[in-house]
Amino acid sequence: MCIFCKIVNREIPSNKVLENDDFVAFHDINPKAPVHILVIPKQHVDSFNELSSEMMRDMTPFIQQVAKHVNVDQSGYRVITNIGDNGGQEVKHLHFHLLGGAKLSWGHFADADPKDFL
Ligand code: AMP
Ligand code: ZN
Repeated sequence: MCIFCKIVNREIPSNKVLENDDFVAFHDINPKAPVHILVIPKQHVDSFNELSSEMMRDMTPFIQQVAKHVNVDQSGYRVITNIGDNGGQEVKHLHFHLLGGAKLSWGHFADADPKDFL
């Protein structure tokens, strides 16, 4: 069972923010911004590649609710999901990072120089 499934099953602890029948939001153990929350489906889905439009439809209002709950909905925030090796996905259970609480940086995303590909 993957580490986030264990969090869903309460086999390992998490610092929960919000939960409903289908999704859980909890604080990232290694925050990269003042607010750094992970939003996951309770059902195991490997990544965004396997995410159904039905699940995405239900996840959208939940993520919006989390943003309101932690009071970043007006100040602004970022939602990111990493996919596969190049995407930098470490945990193979779909999760959306919700980042905020300060002005977020917007920088260089790739090891390769984008100009080399023009
Ligand atoms: P990613 O690289 O997109 O797969 O992100 C995985 C994230 O999960 C990282 O930001 C980790 O800090 C976070 N993480 C890993 N284990 C835990 C855990 N037990 N509780 C909370 N966050 C975790
Ligand atoms: Zn899982």
